[in-house]
Amino acid sequence: MKINESYLLKDDYVFTKINKNVAQFKEKYPKKRILNLGIGDVTCAMNRKLIEVMANALYEQTNKKTFKGYPPETGYDFLKNAIVNKYALKGISFICDEIFISNGAGCDVTNILNLFHNLTAVIADPTYPAYLNSNKFYGNDIILLPLTKQNNYKLLPYGLMEDRSYLIYICSPNNPTGVTLNHNELKTWVDFANKTQSIILFDNAYESFVEDNSPKSIYEVEGAKTCAIEVSSFSKSAGFTNLRCGFTIVPKELMRQNNSINNMWLKHQCTFFNGVPYHIQKGALFVLSSEGEKICQKNIKYYKTNVQILEKYLKYNNFEFVSSNNSPYIWVKIPTTQTSWQYFNFLLNTYGIVCVPGSGFGKCGEGYIRFSAFATREEINLAMKKLTKSAQYEIV
Ligand code: PLP
Repeated sequence: MKINESYLLKDDYVFTKINKNVAQFKEKYPKKRILNLGIGDVTCAMNRKLIEVMANALYEQTNKKTFKGYPPETGYDFLKNAIVNKYALKGISFICDEIFISNGAGCDVTNILNLFHNLTAVIADPTYPAYLNSNKFYGNDIILLPLTKQNNYKLLPYGLMEDRSYLIYICSPNNPTGVTLNHNELKTWVDFANKTQSIILFDNAYESFVEDNSPKSIYEVEGAKTCAIEVSSFSKSAGFTNLRCGFTIVPKELMRQNNSINNMWLKHQCTFFNGVPYHIQKGALFVLSSEGEKICQKNIKYYKTNVQILEKYLKYNNFEFVSSNNSPYIWVKIPTTQTSWQYFNFLLNTYGIVCVPGSGFGKCGEGYIRFSAFATREEINLAMKKLTKSAQYEIV
């Protein structure tokens, strides 16, 4: 046996490296406050009603009649039906067998690689790091498409050969840039994927932050069912980063080399995954109800107000940044000649502010940082006041 040397990647995962730097700072200045606008984890506490729903479902395990053993590998029908109905409201029809309940988007966007050999991945630069790292672990060929000011940070299929097929990662709203692709832009990808027999992996983790008329699902685009897999998550929309639940849609129409990708993913999940706990799926079901949706919207509004506060302060301080109407992240150009890591350390050591250095998302992220609006309101206000030249300036 030989170890997979791809796991010996020299660079630490960006978030591990950030945590190390923050730990060193805490050791050096134990009394200084850390203002964490870095890792995109949610901070709003969960609603009591949602917790009660899950607690009651958990208590069902105490009764012989309602006790449950292993959950179905691909999820309970009650949750799949609710997801089918959610899409039906947008005029998109699925059947339960096309929905796979998972313990979050992270596993599915990486495990999907098990279905393919000799794969060429098309990934944005900068990107959510898991796409890149997982492809490196598998030794896949990788084509990086730069997201720059010149192309408005938009991922489009320019320069890709049309005589081969790819696995194309599209994250819209995007992590880290916050940019959303519109209907026409997604249609360009769908047409390209169908023409080249490529597959789009559409990461929909930030769908609930979309407030303009950008598509909230790749399947809003005609032709997507024959070329796209959509991965969704309750992590950011409903605060499930700890509880873990998401879902992936693999349409029956998605065929490659005369084989059903849906059947392949079914076999994969039944082999590699033993399902999501019943009470967590009951919580996810509640999230999809009209009452649950209203509750979740409250937290999303809170984070969106954080975005507005961040943007007002950044504007006031003449920072150049990508405006984020549809996203919890703000992609900020570093106002000095420092590298991303130098500026990260400057913000940490001067103000106790933690951001994510743009270069942690890829080479094209050099010269940028990412702020997360998932921090608490207090942290956002304090961090921005510290950054602001005039301490008198009050945001309204
Ligand atoms: N995809 C993107 C683009 C993300 O930003 C994240 C988490 O930050 C994930 C997937 C992982 O989500 P989950 O918590 O559902 O695993």
